[in-house]
Parts: sequence; structure tokens; C-alpha cells
Amino acid sequence: MKLEIAVGDITKLRVDAIVNAANRSLLGGGGVDGAIHRAAGPRLLQECREIRRTRHPDGLPVGQAVLTGAYDLPAKHVIHTVGPVFAAERDPAPLLAAAYRNSLALAEEHGLRSIAFPAISTGVYGYPREDAAQVVKGVLAKFAFKSLERVVLCYFSPDDKAVAERILG
Ligand code: ADP
Repeated sequence: MKLEIAVGDITKLRVDAIVNAANRSLLGGGGVDGAIHRAAGPRLLQECREIRRTRHPDGLPVGQAVLTGAYDLPAKHVIHTVGPVFAAERDPAPLLAAAYRNSLALAEEHGLRSIAFPAISTGVYGYPREDAAQVVKGVLAKFAFKSLERVVLCYFSPDDKAVAERILG
């Protein structure tokens, strides 16, 4: 597996799956979630509503992941996962690790070859970016990659990318 640390807008990436830092409702929100829904178009929200109705009536639990189409995005799929709200958890690291690990596992289940992640939980959910990068490093070091050949960590600012490179590079 080849790891790329990139800066930019994740909605522009032509990969097999981009990961959405969703909230438990799966019905959209601000930050990267809002950007993904805007760029994918209304059919993404329709599919998310259907997942809520059929599989997750109480919302998607923190750390779990689901796969949808990507509609108007250049990516082929969107994997929606829910990171922990940093201040709400006594032990947030295993929950953030689960969000990354379950997203990778879902990509592998579908035989995907490339996946791009945003910096899950480090926006509105308040996870310190250094700590989050350490969690990502731990997950990538342990994960048994099979179909996945390319993992992109897509940061939104050059400063966030520099922090990640220092820890993961
Ligand atoms: P969370 O609620 O999980 O904290 P946010 O969307 O608030 O999610 O923030 C997660 C990260 O995504 C932040 O680092 C934010 O700067 C970044 N981000 C926001 N929009 C985009 C985008 N279009 N592409 C990539 N990253 C983005």
C-alpha cells in the first residue's frame, strides 16, 4: 500500500472511495460532510435516508462505517463514518481508530483499490490534529491491506498537512 499525504478539497479526488466525516444522523452537516453532499447532489441524501430507514434507524454508531454511491462526485463511492466528539468521550482514541479501521475494512470488502480520508473529528468535533495523526499512524501500521493499493490522507490546509507529515511521513 502506498500512502499519500495531500492538501486540498477531498470532493475533487478521483479515487474508488472518499470517506465522509459524517455525523450519526447521516443526513448531512457542515464541514467536509456538507461539501460532500453539495458536490454529490441530492441522490446521496436519498440513499443515506434509505440506510437510516432500513439499517440504522437510531443513527450510525460512532466508529462504524457504511458505503454509498458517489453520484456527481468524481469518486466511485462514499464511505460514511462517524468520528468521536473529542470532549464527549473518556477514551476517544479507540473510537477514532475504529472509524478509520472500519472504513478501510469496508473498502476491502468491496475490493476497492484506492481510498481518501479527511482528517476525521479534527474540525467541529475538536480532536487535536497531532493526536488524531498518531491514531491514523497506528491504524495504518496494523491494517492488513489486500485490495487497497493507495491511501490518501487529504488535509484541508497546508498547516494540517505539515503536522500530519511530521507524524506520519
Ligand atoms: P468533524 O465533525 O469530524 O470534526 P469537520 O468536517 O468539521 O468534521 O472537519 C474534519 C476535517 O475536514 C477538518 O480538518 C476540516 O478542515 C476538513 N475539511 C473541511 N472541508 C473539507 C473538504 N472539502 N475536503 C477535505 N477536508 C475538509
